[in-house]
Amino acid sequence: MTTSENQYEIQKTEQEWKENLTPEQFRVLRKHGTERAGTSPLDKVYEEGTYLCAGCGQPLFSSDTKYNSGTGWPSFYQPLENAIGTNVDRSLFMTRTEVHCSRCGGHLGHVFSDGPKPTGQRYCMNGVSLEFIPDKSAN
Ligand code: FE
Repeated sequence: MTTSENQYEIQKTEQEWKENLTPEQFRVLRKHGTERAGTSPLDKVYEEGTYLCAGCGQPLFSSDTKYNSGTGWPSFYQPLENAIGTNVDRSLFMTRTEVHCSRCGGHLGHVFSDGPKPTGQRYCMNGVSLEFIPDKSAN
């Protein structure tokens, strides 16, 4: 990764992140890990609400843009405005577009161009990097 770690509003030391995240969240968010497909309960959630960054609480996605990609990872066709940033990721012998939280830099997943209309984008997210807050008004 070529990203400078200093560009984010939320700055924590490695130790502070470890203390504030579960081991799996730390591995994915701070070490660019990937959760096993099909392991996130959020993959099957389609209630109305908002998906926040599990690292810093910034709202990242609306349930309005969530869809079933069949991949086993929570998938969205569009992020909230200014919520995410991207980097070119050349790991694992592939060129992919890495997606991270614009506020804390936490790794969320990747974006691919095989998504549904209207954007054609597939934001393939690690559920462990997200926290779902259901809409209270949607009951
Ligand atoms: Fe964040």
